[in-house]
Amino acid sequence: MQTKRFFLPENELPTQWYNIQADMVNKPLPMLNPATKEPVKAEDLYPLFAKELAQQELNRTDRWIDIPEEVREMYKFYRSTPLVRAYGLEKALGTPAHIYFKNESVSPVGSHKLNSAIAQAYYCKKEGVKNVTTETGAGQWGTALSYAANVFGLEAAVYQVKISYEQKPYRRSIMQVFGAQVTPSPSMSTRAGKDILTANPTYQGSLGTAISEAVELAQMTPDCKYTLGSVMSHVTLHQTVIGLEAEKQMEMAGEYPDMVIACFGGGSNFGGISFPFMRHNILEGRKTRFIAAEPASCPKLTKGKFEYDFGDESGYTPLMPMFTLGHKFAPANIHAGGLRYHGAGIIVSQLLKDGMMEAVDINQLDSFKAGCLFAKAEGIIPAPESCHAIAATIKEALECKESGESKVILFNLSGHGLMDMTAYDNYLAGNLTNFSYNE
Ligand SMILES: *Cc1c(COP(=O)(O)O)cnc(C)c1O
Repeated sequence: MQTKRFFLPENELPTQWYNIQADMVNKPLPMLNPATKEPVKAEDLYPLFAKELAQQELNRTDRWIDIPEEVREMYKFYRSTPLVRAYGLEKALGTPAHIYFKNESVSPVGSHKLNSAIAQAYYCKKEGVKNVTTETGAGQWGTALSYAANVFGLEAAVYQVKISYEQKPYRRSIMQVFGAQVTPSPSMSTRAGKDILTANPTYQGSLGTAISEAVELAQMTPDCKYTLGSVMSHVTLHQTVIGLEAEKQMEMAGEYPDMVIACFGGGSNFGGISFPFMRHNILEGRKTRFIAAEPASCPKLTKGKFEYDFGDESGYTPLMPMFTLGHKFAPANIHAGGLRYHGAGIIVSQLLKDGMMEAVDINQLDSFKAGCLFAKAEGIIPAPESCHAIAATIKEALECKESGESKVILFNLSGHGLMDMTAYDNYLAGNLTNFSYNE
């Protein structure tokens, strides 16, 4: 029997994050101040983000950035995460492809989000911040931040998109157990929330609105910073621990991926697993393919436009050069809540424009079908978000079956779906539909 799971010993864990901005041939266009149209400087971000995070956001020169000792100590609570050879899935598909997945679902909170939550809470604490705010859609980021804030002795205020607050009460409970204050968004506690509720009292909320509320609270509260679970370049930087570990673990398995696949919301788990491998494409001319799997109902990479747009609905954020469906875009209420965001991070947007990566869109029904097949074959219930990566992986593995090629596929299992069983129930009962994107 060959090895199924590969782990790194503690002394082999990454001590630095990989900053792909240093190696990119075409750097991302600058973020712009919406009032002056001047490029944003780190100082401009200090009112919102901890200083070191603002500096990481704009750092285009340092290829490696040290992971602070305190953050590495916390990573040891659950890292390395296993690299798993998906023998069960390969057998179920009858494919000659070798399929591996990096299992980020084993983090204490069940997803990759904790990798950045720990780092962000640490830098806030170090700077003397007392409170952190954020938004959460599906609840994964809010959960991760609530735990990380508690570890570093910070108060956390989380705006949870109203529909998810109502549909996922246990997510809210988990955040509350970790000590966070959770408010359904839109709320009457901010100007942004009030304006939206006045115009549309029954609005069920969106990530864009929740971001506006969390940003506003951070700006109005002393010793308070805003944190974000995706999209921003510093978030993706922290997630590169996934790919850096996977690189060593693939070496233990004696293979190198022909394809790296991840689901795509704002790009942090995709960038996290991809960028360390992509550096070999950039620096040594390797030909690995990188495939981002997004929902057909929110297809910013495959159907969006590359242009300057706001990151939030109310237009509080800098203008960002990205693939976007427009900051007013209201995605269908699919169950993969973590993928319902209108834009893509600026690094990934530039890489897609430059042909360094590909994107595919996946229907809701195909995603759950893939998730159920994976669950039966490997015994893990994947998050509805992760199901998109699995569907893209299965498609590639079946193409290998057709052509008889035994390619090596690596995908990221960004989280487990044990908190999303309502979604699976609906799928099994035949109550789910596909939503297509309509311009
Ligand atoms: C948030 C989330 C995503 C999407 O966010 P990215 O920044 O694109 O990675 C994917 N999977 C899970 C489990 C999530 O919680």
